[in-house]
Parts: sequence; structure tokens; C-alpha cells
Amino acid sequence: MMTSLRNSDPQVYAIIEREVARQNAGIELIASENFVSRAVMQAMGTPLTNKYAEGLPGRRYYGGCEHVDTAEDLARERAKALYHCEWVNVQPHSGASANAAVYLTLLQPGDTFLGLDLAHGGHLTHGSPVNFSGILYKAEYYGVERDGPLAGRIDMDRVRDKALAVRPKMISIGASAYSRDFDYAAFRTIADEVNALLWMDMAHPAGLIAAGVLNDPLPHAHIVSTTTHKTLRGPRGGMLLMGQDFENPFGKVAPKSGRIRRMSELFDAAVFPGTQGGPLMHVIAAKAVAFAEALVPAFKDYAQQVQRNAAAMALAFLERGYHVVSGGTDNHLMLVDLRNRGLTGKTAEKALQAADITVNKNMVPFDDKSPFVTSGIRLGTSAVTTRGFTEETARQVVALIDAVLQKPSDEDTHRSVRNQVRELTRQHPLYDFVLA
Ligand SMILES: *Cc1c(COP(=O)(O)O)cnc(C)c1O
Repeated sequence: MMTSLRNSDPQVYAIIEREVARQNAGIELIASENFVSRAVMQAMGTPLTNKYAEGLPGRRYYGGCEHVDTAEDLARERAKALYHCEWVNVQPHSGASANAAVYLTLLQPGDTFLGLDLAHGGHLTHGSPVNFSGILYKAEYYGVERDGPLAGRIDMDRVRDKALAVRPKMISIGASAYSRDFDYAAFRTIADEVNALLWMDMAHPAGLIAAGVLNDPLPHAHIVSTTTHKTLRGPRGGMLLMGQDFENPFGKVAPKSGRIRRMSELFDAAVFPGTQGGPLMHVIAAKAVAFAEALVPAFKDYAQQVQRNAAAMALAFLERGYHVVSGGTDNHLMLVDLRNRGLTGKTAEKALQAADITVNKNMVPFDDKSPFVTSGIRLGTSAVTTRGFTEETARQVVALIDAVLQKPSDEDTHRSVRNQVRELTRQHPLYDFVLA
């Protein structure tokens, strides 16, 4: 697959070779990562990358688009089938790009929106002061409970109180580090009550939602954005979806006919020309491939296994005396609060890396440490499940993590765990095409 690259640029080839070896050898627990199929990678590595195709299929600003049009239509039809929805746009280059189009469509600069607190699991693009979403718009937040029966979870009564208090134009749902499912119907009731539009960013759980193992936001949210590369296991990219298209409530009209435009037209325009130029047609072809992979029954088995593995890991952590935020998980990820172990997220991440176990340090709700240190780690099971780990392997992984965290600076422990990691990953091989 890669002989041309090996011959023409041995330097870059060697870097790729080392990265593939790293992915093969280690245990990947970063919750936002996954391993795509060889078919997805092959679609990406094609001359479709050469094609400019600004506009939508059948309405492009460039000639020669007949074949990429078919690819994009296929991606759109498959995405619609996957999410049982009326409209999609598969062009966003990333999750953040898809979100930019949402803001551009729903808000004017200075408008207030309500989203999940970044310190409680929300994403950078949900109002961080260093991101356009927090720079251009006024972000208000709801969070998770500190104590009580809903500790670590969102209390919908509080979301309602906050919405009534700040009267947002838009309410966002979605997170990068929240291990529980969302009550979309309750969010919609609140949004309707304050006359706000409801946006769900399903970047993380998209694959689990497609497989039907988590609640479905599409019947409730006005707009849904996602990445395609996390639990959905496609190429790096983004997408916008609407369960049902509707007439825009802003009174925006079509330039020539004066007709009130549909939301789909506004979102399409917000992607291009609003926030992007030419779409990545090689990536869109790879999205089509990934959507087809997610449409077969085996993907539902995968999603269920991801969930079972996460539940098994969370339980194993609890049994070993770790504090798992909210007491467990509904999806593919969990947050482990290390304060009762006298460890920071930074120390834990570094020690685990020395044993070839990759996790990321993460703020926990009500954290007293900085984002560079943090009190927790975030772990997810999407990637290890792709390479065949089951509940039993998941429990073994927790035992290895525990061994490292009990002696975080002990090099003998690192070495011994690294050897056990090698053994586990050798039993579940990943990619062989570079090293072969
Ligand atoms: C990962 C993520 C994104 C951003 O996706 P990129 O493709 O990295 O831009 C947006 N929103 C949420 C909730 C995410 O978890």
C-alpha cells in the first residue's frame, strides 16, 4: 500500500511506520480516538483529494464534479439511513467546523446561549473564552451536581432554572467528558419554554447513537452536529444533521424569489460559503465507506461491546477503590477522579504513558487544579473494542492501570506493565500494512 511513499520520502515513511508501531503496541484509551478500517483509509488516500467541488452535488462552482457528486450523494443517503433523518451536510472538515456553521446560523454576535460548563465536560467550542464560540457569543452554563443522588449528573430542573434566568437564544447539549446519556425530550421542553433553538453536539457518542444503544437526539434537537471519527469510526471529519427540516424562524428570505428559506438552506450556506471553502472529497468518500460499515448489524454488536467494556472498566475501578465520576457510565467513556489517591491527572497520564497505556488527563467537576495538572483522567473504550478487547480484557487493563498508579514513578513497574501490555496487544493485532 505504501511502497511509493517509502521510496520517494523515506523520512515521512519512517515517521508513519513508528506511529503505526506505537498504535499497534500500546493500549489506546483516549475516549475521542478510534481505529478506522483499511477500506476507510484507502478511500482517503485517493485522487479524489485533487478535486475542487465548492457547492452541493448538482450545483457546483466547478466542472468535472460528476463522480464526486455521486460520492457525496452516497455519503448523504447513507448518513440519512443511519440516523433516520431528513437532511444532512457531510462537508464540515471537523467537529469544530460543523459547530461554527451552527453558531453562524442560529446566533448573531453577542447573543446568549446556554451550554454545558467546560469544567463539567463541555467542549471548547461550547463557549470557551479562547474559542470563537466564547469570543463572539455570550456563553452561559449549566453543570453537573456536586452531591446527592445526581452527583456527577445533569439535573434537568437546574437546567430549566438557568434557562429561565438567562433566556438563551440557543441551548446546546453535548460533551467531551460526560459519561451519562442525555434526556433530549426534557431539553426540548425547556428550549420550547424559553423560545430557544436546541442543538445537540453528538461528536463523542455518534456511533453509539447510530447503533441505537443510546437515546436518539434527532427527533428532539433542531440541529445535530457531530464528528465522524470518534465512536462512529470514520475518517477525521464533521457533519450536520436535522431529523426534520423546518422553515427558518428568523424570516431570512431567498435572494431572488423572496421565499422564506428552509433551515437546511441556511445550514448549507453556513458550511459553504459561510465558514468553509472546497470540501475534502476524498474524506467525503471515506465518510460514505464508514457510514456503510455502521449500517450493518456487526456495528451494533461493536457499539454494545464498547458499552459493556466501559461498564466493566468503571466497575473494576470502583471495586479497586477509585472514584468514578457519577458512579459509572452509560456510554463509551468514564472520568476517574484521582483526588482520593493523592494523584493528579498529569502524574497519572505520564506514568501510564511510560507503560504504553494512553489516557488523557482531564478536569473533573469542581476541580481545584489547573487544566494543565487536573485531578482526573478520562478513559474510553472505542479504540480497544475495535481491536477486539472484551470485558475480560477490559478488567485486565484496569488491573494494569492500578498497578501503575500505585507506584507511578517506579520504573520496574512501568517495564513489567509494558510487557503485559505488549502481550495483550499482540493477541489483538491492529494494522500490518506498513510494517509488513
Ligand atoms: C471532539 C469534539 C468536537 C471537535 O471535533 P474536532 O473534529 O476535533 O474539531 C466538538 N464537540 C465535541 C463535543 C467534541 O467532543
